[in-house]
Amino acid sequence: MEMHRPLHTLPKAHLHLHFTGSMRHSTLIELAREQGLHLPDALEQDWPPRLRATDERGWFRFQRLYDIARSVLSRPEHVYRLLRETAEDEAAAGSRWLEIQVDPSGFASRFGGLTATLELMLDAARQAAEHAGVEMPVIVAANRTRHPLDANTLARLATQYAGKGVVGFGLSNDERRGEARDFERAFRIAKRGGLLAVPHGGELLGPRSVAQCIDDLDADRVGHGVRAAEDPWLMQRLADRQICCEVCPTSNVGLGVAERAADVPLRRLFDAGVPIALGADDPLLFGTRLLRQYELAREVYGFSDAEIAELARQSIRSSTASDPARKELLKGVDDWLTGSAE
Ligand SMILES: [Zn+2]
Repeated sequence: MEMHRPLHTLPKAHLHLHFTGSMRHSTLIELAREQGLHLPDALEQDWPPRLRATDERGWFRFQRLYDIARSVLSRPEHVYRLLRETAEDEAAAGSRWLEIQVDPSGFASRFGGLTATLELMLDAARQAAEHAGVEMPVIVAANRTRHPLDANTLARLATQYAGKGVVGFGLSNDERRGEARDFERAFRIAKRGGLLAVPHGGELLGPRSVAQCIDDLDADRVGHGVRAAEDPWLMQRLADRQICCEVCPTSNVGLGVAERAADVPLRRLFDAGVPIALGADDPLLFGTRLLRQYELAREVYGFSDAEIAELARQSIRSSTASDPARKELLKGVDDWLTGSAE
């Protein structure tokens, strides 16, 4: 039997993780108790919840749990704590480069407006990064269920912090609400300001939604994008243009996008040459972090160590890491594979 290399020492980039969703479950419980907030069973004894987000009711339930989780983060020190713990967990998983998605709108009324909230998050990310030795640039994500004008505002704000901690612009929430092209202007603002375009697509809706991310939003990467696997032509386009799919297997199962992990088409995308960055999406709601996604690659999708190393390389190449940082991370992957990592 082949000897497997330990996955936590493999250097990787984590490109799909949401701010609130990255909170430790134990921290959620603790902060809720401290503030006398009641948590539903799905976030306490029945955690992690099994959701059915493929219908609107299920998605609504998911968003409701998300809102409850957000409500425990009521003071700036909670933001610092969350990001510090997230950085520690990333470091333990061998993640060396984390692009964390934040939507400051959900916290703006609490922390003194959009700009103050983003600055708070950026400062907390900087401190957490230094503390844990993980690079932690930020992606500002607009909410698809809100008005496109809100997205324009966020895009403008994000570009003011390009080169000062913000590296990308995203679009999250229910894909079935609003067309990608409604957010074309926001993404043009973001790209002109030097940010990467990283919208969610191809999670709840089919290949067409991935194509719209490419055609209408000029996406550099697609959040999830797994349903691109239903269309060989589209996979070819993603491969040709090296547009990365941020694949989050546990999330797909947690939200009912896939029945079982084995149904997530990771192997099909990989074999078609589509660059992949494995991601955890929302560990707080799905119960697992980044390392588990790499374990699934090995255990469920049958990736060899050489293929797993290639997954890590693809995550690094699809990140916003500078050339020198990228070279160093890629060398770490080679060392892991040749066994000179120790
Ligand atoms: Zn996501």
